[in-house]
Amino acid sequence: MLQKERKTLPIYHYREQVLRAVQENQVVVIVGETGSGKTTQIPQYLHEAGYTKHGKVGCTQPRRVAAISVAARVSREMGVKLGHEVGYSIRFEDCTSEKTVLKYMTDGMVLREMLSDPKLESYSVLMVDEAHERTLSTDILLGIFKDLVRLRSDLKLLISSATLDAEKFSAYFNFAPILRVPGRRYPVEIHYTKAPESNYIDAAIVTTLEIHATQASGDILVFLTGQEEIETVEEILKERIRKLGTKIGELIVCPVYANLPTELQAKIFVPTPDGARKVVLATNIAETSLTIDGIKYVVDSGYSKMKWYNPKTGMESLLVYPISKASAMQRAGRSGRTGPGKCFRLYTINSYQEDMEDNTVPEIQRTNLANVILILKNLGIDDLLNFDFLDSPPQELLRKALELLYALGALNQVGELTKVGRQMAEFPLDPMLSKMIVASDKFKCSNEIITIAALLSVGNSVFYRPKNKKFLADNARMNFYQGDAGDHIALLNVYNSWKENDYSKQWCYDNFIQFRSMKHARDIRDQLTCLVERVGIELTSSLCNLEAMKKAIISGFLLHTARLQKNGSYWTVKHPQKVHVHPSSGLAQVPKRWVIYHELVLTTKEYMRQVTELKPEWLFEIAPHYYMLKDVEDLRKKMPRVAGRPWLKT
Ligand code: ADP
Ligand code: MG
Repeated sequence: MLQKERKTLPIYHYREQVLRAVQENQVVVIVGETGSGKTTQIPQYLHEAGYTKHGKVGCTQPRRVAAISVAARVSREMGVKLGHEVGYSIRFEDCTSEKTVLKYMTDGMVLREMLSDPKLESYSVLMVDEAHERTLSTDILLGIFKDLVRLRSDLKLLISSATLDAEKFSAYFNFAPILRVPGRRYPVEIHYTKAPESNYIDAAIVTTLEIHATQASGDILVFLTGQEEIETVEEILKERIRKLGTKIGELIVCPVYANLPTELQAKIFVPTPDGARKVVLATNIAETSLTIDGIKYVVDSGYSKMKWYNPKTGMESLLVYPISKASAMQRAGRSGRTGPGKCFRLYTINSYQEDMEDNTVPEIQRTNLANVILILKNLGIDDLLNFDFLDSPPQELLRKALELLYALGALNQVGELTKVGRQMAEFPLDPMLSKMIVASDKFKCSNEIITIAALLSVGNSVFYRPKNKKFLADNARMNFYQGDAGDHIALLNVYNSWKENDYSKQWCYDNFIQFRSMKHARDIRDQLTCLVERVGIELTSSLCNLEAMKKAIISGFLLHTARLQKNGSYWTVKHPQKVHVHPSSGLAQVPKRWVIYHELVLTTKEYMRQVTELKPEWLFEIAPHYYMLKDVEDLRKKMPRVAGRPWLKT
């Protein structure tokens, strides 16, 4: 059955052309409409043609969900067990084995893999998929692969893209040939709102219900910006449908977002039963990474979440940001794959024409580069100013990243990698988290710190706070706060209590803790334990020594310090900016003179999340090269020391 389906995909007619192009050229660029079969079919064609006899075919994906879902699909098409011949690898989850010949993985994982296999010698073909997404890791990979193909004449490189950036990729790789796979495309009718919507969430709900009530059969795809929003819309839609009772047909609501548990992912691909309609609530993950058959209507909020890093303040925020025209076109196109479609844009035609950029700014130009620079330095790529980027990052971003790595002790005064920097690179974490772990060695509390790091890595999903039980949930949460030890230690207490209760699910329910997040944190913790041993950090505990734990945390997050002001708000210490303690923090009601935070979130205000108190003198005890007494004594004299770091000057 699946074999027959494979033959109906547009790319099937280009099978021989693809294989010939790969045989005759080392680098090939492939462009094809989303859903034409690039991701699922090309690796299989290569396998069938024998390219996996002397190495694996690796296919990179910008998103974890896509890597898992596509690998699952391909393993079914090939009739093998997932993790055997076909596998995937994402951060903290390796589902491959000795047998694996087709490997789907996130672009970030390939970079990590290069730390142990710099020439990627276990691969015979690499396919950089979804290259048009221009994630930071994809851009870096393209730069590295450009060199790698010179070093390894036996390696084949494919770059696949859903949009028209093909010429740019081709030119970058010495005018590699471009193969175009025309997709099926039916006309899409586009509707705009007459006036701007004040609330796109409400508008999305109303529009979805209207489509359901008035339009012919066919599934709906709604583009929203994130998990919380999707969960809200899911809840409201279900409630409204319930109230409408039998007056209206069945509406099956399926959410899709980056952290969606694997077991729920399969649900979005289940064909809709006759008489019912499916509505998929998705982030921009469904823009090009995932193809869901049967979609006939698209509702486009016009927004997505984007990371923006401000090099002036060193702050990174995840912002709800207007999408580009290119994204809007992609979104609309999702409705016209199997027949004529309709796209309802929740913005005006004027706003489309006037306010939206043509293309999304590549991530490399708007994000914190410290993580990839640490990896590049570990790969021996030192001369970043002359690295051949597809689009160069602004100098300011490069300089800021080097400064952060210097502050963390990963680079020395002349910008060379230190032992600490090498240890840090072993951890698949942000540099601040990995530094916190490396530093825990000195403070003899690595056991506690890796627990905290694992919990911080699962995101803000440890505590469960249902709308109708907020009071009970908040009370339960406060049990984990001893005195005013802060949020980091509270997380540690949650984990240790759970462990004392034999990792029980019931215990989680009783304490308003999300069991799934805890299980995930436990997995991550196990992996971090192995890595800690590998880099030669001793596993030690000092549960009673609060100061030691705090000092380890500060060693990683020394740039995230803030000081209380008379009016109750806080100012960050370096590059002062006004911030507030997030209401969910245990320290929200107990102001502390000095605090350290894990991250900032911008909602109505700039909030610090996961906050812990510190003593200012610890700052120059821990980072005398970065903090000076006067930083701490007088905020107005806030100049960081620049002397002795010539590589930081432009
Ligand atoms: P492209 O990479 O060109 O966008 P894909 O290879 O991802 O196309 O998709 C080809 C077809 O495979 C699509 O029709 C899609 O519906 C189907 N498909 C992909 N992944 C899955 C999955 N996890 N479950 C069911 N069908 C899938
Ligand atoms: Mg694809």
